[in-house]
Amino acid sequence: MRIPFIAGNWKMYKTIAQARAFADEFKNLYHDTDVKTAIFAPYTQLETLVEAFKGSGIGVGAQNVHFAKEGAYTGEVSVAMLEEIGVDYCLVGHSERRQYFAETDESVNLKLKALLESKILPVVCVGENLEEREAGKEEVIVSGQIRADFDGICEADAEKIVVAYEPVWAIGTGKTATPEQANQMCKCIRETLADIYDEETADKIIIQYGGSVKPENATEIMNMEEIDGALVGGASLEPLKFIEIINF
Ligand code: PEP
Repeated sequence: MRIPFIAGNWKMYKTIAQARAFADEFKNLYHDTDVKTAIFAPYTQLETLVEAFKGSGIGVGAQNVHFAKEGAYTGEVSVAMLEEIGVDYCLVGHSERRQYFAETDESVNLKLKALLESKILPVVCVGENLEEREAGKEEVIVSGQIRADFDGICEADAEKIVVAYEPVWAIGTGKTATPEQANQMCKCIRETLADIYDEETADKIIIQYGGSVKPENATEIMNMEEIDGALVGGASLEPLKFIEIINF
């Protein structure tokens, strides 16, 4: 059985003081339920959140990592550095990183492999852009990303990876994929994983939908058969909105 996983991506928002205030309010609202949750925060807030959420069941994740163990990579952060802070998860290949920071499927694949050598669970983001959707190429694009991102990763490791299907045209735009569109793409991702591995493995992998998820559309999205969770950007910045989504 796949346990629903609803996570917040704070992008480049909040200071440490604001993160602490969020954590205080959110901990009072959150009751350990059947839904797993986590906050993906900027590096500077991770330690504060790990400390604040200790024992609460709320996970903490980073938004990016470098694949090298260490080296002359100014401005980058390694897996070991994240492990030392005690984060539970790390996002890989978010569309904003693919779009603005030259993240490729090749680097995504290396980052997944580096994380899989640690206890930090990766959440890999895939999704087509508007042009690709309008050309009817969304399934080809997304299944191609999955094949490239999972290349050389064994079955046992693949099961630890969470996939977030995030159509680029729906991120931060207020436009949401219809529940049917999102479900169809999550189904396509699961079929691709079944083709790479087998159905049993694909059945175990959590697939989230992300793209303008808010309290008003969370129930409909979460009720779709192939969707196991959500990656929430804007609406995760406010404790009340985020808790409403978690309590869909
Ligand atoms: C995201 O940042 O991954 C995201 C889905 O953002 P939003 O919910 O704001 O569209």
